[in-house]
Amino acid sequence: MKVVGHFINGETCTPKGRMQDVYNPATGEAEKLVLLASKATVNDAIVSAQQAFPQWRNTPVSKRARIMFKFKSLLEEHAEEITALIGAEHGKISHDAAGELQRGIENVEFACGAPQLLKGEHSKNVGPSIDSWSEFQPLGVVAGITPFNFPAMVPLWMFPLAIVCGNTFVLKPSERDPSCAIFLAKLLKEAGLPDGVFNVVNGDKEAVDQILDDERIKAVSFVGSTPIAEYIYSKANANGKRCQALGGAKNHAIVMPDADIDNAVNQLLGAAFGSSGERCMALSVVVAVGDEVADKIVDKMQTAMKDLKVGAFDDASNDFGPLITLQHKEKVEGYITSAAEQGANVVVDGRSPTVEGYETGFFLGATLIDNVTPEMTSYKAEIFGPVLQVMRVESMEQAMQLIDEHEYGNGTCIFTRDGEAARYFSDNIQVGMVGINVPLPVPVSYHSFGGWKRSLFGDLHAYGPDGVRFYTKRKTITQRWPSSGVREGVSFSFPS
Ligand code: NAD
Repeated sequence: MKVVGHFINGETCTPKGRMQDVYNPATGEAEKLVLLASKATVNDAIVSAQQAFPQWRNTPVSKRARIMFKFKSLLEEHAEEITALIGAEHGKISHDAAGELQRGIENVEFACGAPQLLKGEHSKNVGPSIDSWSEFQPLGVVAGITPFNFPAMVPLWMFPLAIVCGNTFVLKPSERDPSCAIFLAKLLKEAGLPDGVFNVVNGDKEAVDQILDDERIKAVSFVGSTPIAEYIYSKANANGKRCQALGGAKNHAIVMPDADIDNAVNQLLGAAFGSSGERCMALSVVVAVGDEVADKIVDKMQTAMKDLKVGAFDDASNDFGPLITLQHKEKVEGYITSAAEQGANVVVDGRSPTVEGYETGFFLGATLIDNVTPEMTSYKAEIFGPVLQVMRVESMEQAMQLIDEHEYGNGTCIFTRDGEAARYFSDNIQVGMVGINVPLPVPVSYHSFGGWKRSLFGDLHAYGPDGVRFYTKRKTITQRWPSSGVREGVSFSFPS
């Protein structure tokens, strides 16, 4: 069976050690093995990154950017291979994998602007013959730890920008879909990246803990579930590292009585069930303002959901694919059961779908649950599956209160034709990314991505302008070149 190893100092390597199965979620079969890095292997990656740092940091920024331009072309050239790898290990449909890759490429495009992004700030004559400027220097070796649900895009949120800012990088991707990161590392090498600047270690908690404990790693970007994000953030901080840890979500969409309901239903279908709901920006709760709106939504959704097609990656007519593992599928099914037991109404039950030719895959059909209330387990938890829950409220204020009281604050959306309501909503809601008639308001690469409340631990959001700040430290230099012959006397007062 194929073994997926690591990429250290410009080479793939497969040292002996612990391994884990990698499943094809569509067939339900373990088709590969992934090596789980030992502390020694992580150390090798850190050594390689540390050795590469001095030279890379001093490489002109335009040269660093040129490698990113080449990397972008290679990503486009090899798009089909990358999306096939995503499909085989994650299970998302080819069109969805292509969308993920495209959003990742946009982060590379942003990184290509490094010469402009790193120009710094300059002030002349802040005092007599004194100039002052701030420059943004790299941190050193930085690390990224990423989740299974975007095996290309989330790593691409991190390493292109970190590298172009002059850092060297150790990536620890999800052990559930490990091949994509290795493929990206090979393309970067082909683009001309010097060995050691980008390293990939596959692994689990052992590798992560080594990253968190090693003092040579200066910063950690994490994306994953909230309990692990919180763990990473506290441990990284206790060890003196800079850290941004993005966590889980429960994204609500408010549908106002004046909304275009047909449009809202179309948007909700894609945002709730696309990628089997395994997106941190998936809309998993509709908050209908008024029973009339709720009844219409449930009725139209029910009809539209009959046409949804769940299936394998390589049939582009499928709408979404399987869940990542059997355990995860069972967990999602458990939330549906609990909702029914706690009094909700399962209007469309996607459990046990038939997918011809893929009877042993981890498939779950689209599910719609009505009359969900705040105390239900299925409402409190992040389900991360193709399950859309409907809640009924009487006013926009009640809808906003629900959202604000939820543990998570990643994304949200309002469907309305009323500009005043939309403005009030975006101004006041306690959520980091807001859509107005836009169901998946994932910021473009030249803005930054991040939630509020327990969806993000840390101060700076991922990628974009915040990413540049995260991967650099500011140094401010104040310089005086006195005119010849000018001598200043001694002064003991504070310079002003
Ligand atoms: P996860 O938290 O299980 O794993 C994320 C990473 O942490 C993986 O690399 C994994 O190997 C590592 N990890 C897992 N358990 C660990 C432990 N005990 N100690 C140390 N490291 C550990 O998340 P996942 O299941 O891969 O991804 C899904 C989650 O990610 C969802 O909660 C989703 O909302 C979240 N997510 C968030 C965003 C965002 O931007 N906020 C984006 C994508 C996914």
